[in-house]
Amino acid sequence: MVSFTIQNVLIAASDDYATVDVQIVDGAIAAIAPNLPVIGTVIDGKNKLLLPGFFNAHTHSSEMWQRGIMSVLPLELWLAELYDFAPLDTEQVYLSALGTAVETLLSGGTSVVDHLVLIPGLELETIATATRAYREVGIRAFIAPLIQDESLSAGIPSGESARTHEPYHRSTAATLEIIEEAVRQFHRPDEGVNILVAPTGIQLCSNALFAGCIELSDRYNLCRHSHLLETRAQEKLAQEKYGCTAVEHLKRIGFLSDRTTLAHCVWLNDADIAILAETQSTVVHNPLSNLRLGSGIAPILKYRQAGVNVTFGCDGASSNDSQDLLEAIKMGSILHNITDSDYQHWITPRQAVEMASLGGAKGLNLADNLGSLSVGKQADLVLYDLTNLSLLPRTDPIGLLVLGRPNNVVDSVWVNGKQIVADGKVTTINVDELRQELFNRSQWETKRKSETVAQIEAHYRTVMGL
Ligand SMILES: [Zn+2]
Repeated sequence: MVSFTIQNVLIAASDDYATVDVQIVDGAIAAIAPNLPVIGTVIDGKNKLLLPGFFNAHTHSSEMWQRGIMSVLPLELWLAELYDFAPLDTEQVYLSALGTAVETLLSGGTSVVDHLVLIPGLELETIATATRAYREVGIRAFIAPLIQDESLSAGIPSGESARTHEPYHRSTAATLEIIEEAVRQFHRPDEGVNILVAPTGIQLCSNALFAGCIELSDRYNLCRHSHLLETRAQEKLAQEKYGCTAVEHLKRIGFLSDRTTLAHCVWLNDADIAILAETQSTVVHNPLSNLRLGSGIAPILKYRQAGVNVTFGCDGASSNDSQDLLEAIKMGSILHNITDSDYQHWITPRQAVEMASLGGAKGLNLADNLGSLSVGKQADLVLYDLTNLSLLPRTDPIGLLVLGRPNNVVDSVWVNGKQIVADGKVTTINVDELRQELFNRSQWETKRKSETVAQIEAHYRTVMGL
């Protein structure tokens, strides 16, 4: 295993900064102090800031193929359009997973949670392909195959009308078998590849599917991931389906736990928030997606005051439409200043950094191994170039990193002590080739019509009172 020493690097100390050396031995942080003896290769940390890697704690990599083109629609209609044009070959899955990894790394992330959309009939191949892409890049991967067992129209509340839905194309049992096989084949936490159980959410999943996921999670020690109450329509739907809130229901069936991460969490009430705190569940905040789809502003300050762990995600690139983690962190911090006039509750840049790093590690049950610069933890590290124009003049480096508009500021990235970005460039794959492939396999287009949107829009408008 590699060993190296980062010399004269700036790190955050309590309320201040310190210049130190950081020794990495066998992929772990061995010592942090000024003037350490050199072990292994020397990395010059002068005029650079070292932070623990962030978590892109919720995304859908294959959405990259539709970024920029999706209509301006709320989630339920947006999803219909998304699926009408979803990529159907694994080569596209491979390229968009590479692209997602690269953009995550170059905006400070060392881990990605990919709530991976599966190609029907090629489910295991899709998972294998994403796994291969993430292994090649070297980013720490949490692959959460997106599963459901109800058809799309079931995700919209019925309202007054009695509605029936087409059965989903695959049985619940067959879906769970795919996940179990994926765990057998690809779940290798020691090698940086993790499989999660990831029912897409209460809107499209039966209790049997949730129960099967909980059982797999317990048997194989897997983290759990799901969307939760992203939209007002889902809040209505939960009442129709269960006669209680989605959070009460998920608690009742045992899905909430200290290794459960829940994306969005926009429409929760105070009792729901107390349940998240009590079950030690983690909220993944996706501010840009929530704005893009008009989903709402998640009550993040309330979560923090209630002691709920919060971290950040970019969400898929069709609802963002990028994978810039620093942008998500900035927006996810300052957005909430307008929700509470008591400025003492507002999120500071240092708190935002901790949410993005340790918050993600906690949610994935890895707080003992990742998420902070601590001796003994694994070396998932990011080195920022403080001489970059966007980080000048010299003020408070973390303040400017979070509140500014940092541009190409990531100098080096290590995952488990292995360097995968150097001099601002990903070293493990050929990014120029990736650009060429993305270019060649796409075209400029502006007009396309989603048939599914046309079919469901009238009902959606009626039931939502529009
Ligand atoms: Zn999502």
